[in-house]
Amino acid sequence: MKCCPLCGATTHEPATFCSQCGQPLDGTPRPAQPKPRWYYNVWFVLFMLFFVAGPFGLPLVWKNPRLSRGVKLALTAAMVVYTVLLIDLTRRMFQAVMNEVNQLNSAW
Ligand SMILES: [Zn+2]
Repeated sequence: MKCCPLCGATTHEPATFCSQCGQPLDGTPRPAQPKPRWYYNVWFVLFMLFFVAGPFGLPLVWKNPRLSRGVKLALTAAMVVYTVLLIDLTRRMFQAVMNEVNQLNSAW
C-alpha cells in the first residue's frame, strides 16, 4: 500500500497515481496548473480595448472567463459610445483642417 502525499488515501502498490486525487505517488508534485492566460488579465483587456484595438478588442472581452456577463455588456456599450465619440472627433478634426485649408486658399 502507498499513502497519497496529497489526500492521504491509500492505493495499491503498483499504482503510480493516487486513485482518489490523481497525485503521483513517487513524491514528485503534480504538474503545476496552467498559468492563467496573460491576455485574460482584466487590465490588459481594458488597455487593448481603449488604447490599441478599439472595438476590435471586444472578442477579448467576450472570451474572458473572468468577466461577468454584466461587465461584458457594460464594456461593449462603453466601447460603442467610445467609438462613436472617436469617429465624431475625427470628423470634426478633418472639418477643422479643411476649413483652415479653404481659408488659406481664399486668402491667396
Ligand atoms: Zn490522493
